[in-house]
Amino acid sequence: AQERYASIRDRKTVTLDGKELSLVMNAGLMADLPSLDSSGAEGVGLFRTELQFLVRNQMPKRSELVSLYGRVLDAAHGKRVVFRTLDIGSDKVLPYMKPTDEPNPALGWRAIRVGLDKPGVMRMQLQALIRAANGRPLTIMFPFVAQAEEYHMARAEVDKTIERERKLGHVLPETLEVGAMLETPSLAFAPQKFFDDVGFLSVGGNDLKQFFFAADRENERVRRRYDTLNVSFLSLIERIVERCAISGTPLSFCGEDAGRPIEALCLAAMGIRTLSMRPASIGPVKSLLLRSNLDELRKIISDARHRGEQSVRPAVMAWLKQQS
Ligand code: PEP
Ligand code: MG
Repeated sequence: AQERYASIRDRKTVTLDGKELSLVMNAGLMADLPSLDSSGAEGVGLFRTELQFLVRNQMPKRSELVSLYGRVLDAAHGKRVVFRTLDIGSDKVLPYMKPTDEPNPALGWRAIRVGLDKPGVMRMQLQALIRAANGRPLTIMFPFVAQAEEYHMARAEVDKTIERERKLGHVLPETLEVGAMLETPSLAFAPQKFFDDVGFLSVGGNDLKQFFFAADRENERVRRRYDTLNVSFLSLIERIVERCAISGTPLSFCGEDAGRPIEALCLAAMGIRTLSMRPASIGPVKSLLLRSNLDELRKIISDARHRGEQSVRPAVMAWLKQQS
C-alpha cells in the first residue's frame, strides 16, 4: 500500500487553498523507525516510551534507556522525535510494579499522576533522555495532564534534572522543548496562562474523546457510539485551536483519528496543522489533503453546525462526493 503513495511521499502537504500541514508518525519500538523514511513522515509526533517498559519483565536500567533513546534519535537522522514520558498505571500495569486495585483504572492512578507521586522512574527517564540526546535537540511530552499545576511540577523536574546533569558534566541538549498532551477536557479550560507557559500541546484524541463522551475507548459496545465529527467534539477542538492561537502555542493531534482521512481532513479544517498517525496512514491522509480546500470545508462544517446537525459527517461526505 505504501507503494501506491510513493509518488507523493516526498511532497510537502499543501492543500488546494495553500495551507501547509506537517504529517508525522506515532512510534514506540525501534522497529517502527524505518517507517520514517518509507512513509515520508516529517518526524515522530508521539513516541510512546511505555512500550519498551511493557515488553520487559524487569525495570530497564538507565544505561539501557540511554542506549535505546540514543538509537531512536540516530535512526531519526535529525527529524524531530517527541518522547512521551511513561504512560502507565491502572490497566497498563508493568509486570514488575505492584498492581494497585482500582475500581476505575482509566480514571485512576496513571501516567503523570504516577510520575509526580513516585518521581524515581520519571527522573531516571528524564536523565536517560538528556544523556541520549547528547547535545542534540530534545523534545519531551508529559501524558495525561489534567491541570496546569501538573505540567508545572513535571517541568520543574525537567529543570532540576538538567541542572543535575550539567553539574555531573554531561552534555546538555542543544534545544529543549517540553510540552503536554491534552487528553482530559479539563485542560482545554485551563487558565490562558497555561497556554502561554506550555512549550507545545498535542491532543490525545483517543483519551480526550473517551472522557468527553464518557465512553470507554476499549468497550466495543460504546466506543463507536459517538462520532469524532460530532459538533460538540468539534467545538472542543475549535476552542483548543483558538486558545493555542492566542498564545502562539504549537498544537498537534496524535490520536487514532489523525490517521483516518476524513477525520484528519476535518481536524485540518478546524485549524490543526500537525497530525501524528500510524505510518501507514500518512499516504492516504496526505493524498486527501492535497486534493482539498480547507476553507471551503470549514464553511461546510459551519453550515452543518448552524443547521443544528448532530454530526457534520453527512455534510462532509456529500461535499467530498461532489468533488470526485
Ligand atoms: C491518545 O490518548 O489519543 C493517545 C495518543 O495516547 P494513547 O493512545 O497512548 O493513550
Ligand atoms: Mg492517551
